[in-house]
Amino acid sequence: MGRVIVLFGAPGSGKGTQGEMLEKQFGLPRVSTGDLFRALPDEGAGKEIQELMAHGSLVPDEKVIELLKQELAKSAYENGFILDGFPRTVPQAKALDALLAELNQALEAVVYLDASEAEIKRRLGGRWTCRECNKIYNFRGKPAAECSECGGALYQREDDTPHGIEQRLRTYRQKTAPLINYYQGKGVLRKVAVPDRAQKEDVFKLVLKQLGAGTENKRK
Ligand code: AMP
Repeated sequence: MGRVIVLFGAPGSGKGTQGEMLEKQFGLPRVSTGDLFRALPDEGAGKEIQELMAHGSLVPDEKVIELLKQELAKSAYENGFILDGFPRTVPQAKALDALLAELNQALEAVVYLDASEAEIKRRLGGRWTCRECNKIYNFRGKPAAECSECGGALYQREDDTPHGIEQRLRTYRQKTAPLINYYQGKGVLRKVAVPDRAQKEDVFKLVLKQLGAGTENKRK
């Protein structure tokens, strides 16, 4: 049985960034349902899903659960994993409980990245994504044209436009925020108060503290 950690928070709270850092720190693979959806072919069911995403709406629970089940069946996840962007509804959280029981895994912690709404809006407005490798950039000023990792073109996701941001925050408040109580009740919620304009390394220290780990044994 391995470690299973959920990264939870509003869009723009830093789940992707902290997830990448945790992935390196613990040597655990990260599963982002948003990335899985973005990798679907641009036609048929994939197209329908991408339209929902562009409008800041959630993909129906059954579709997300099915996709995640397929992904987690891979041997790469046998020793645990980090979930980023799942669960986002109470039915998804219940499906995760059942799936973990099937996989003989247990949920160690739900790290709740609690950032202010002003900070979230500031961050999402400056967020650009690499079309090739999905690396996320946060620009304060003028965005770069290409990815410094792979040279791919950078673009602003439709859901990162001001209208898209409002819609996603509404969805978060209605559908996802109730999970805070759900996981608090299970005793696995680890809340990290994210300071405005904090550096990702400083937030990471808070995350590790909540997980009961230091940075000294970081993997090279
Ligand atoms: P993310 O990359 O996590 O911000 O996800 C981008 C979009 O993918 C979300 O706004 C949703 O439309 C969709 N999505 C990702 N994960 C889920 C999920 N667990 N449930 C429903 N929709 C999801």
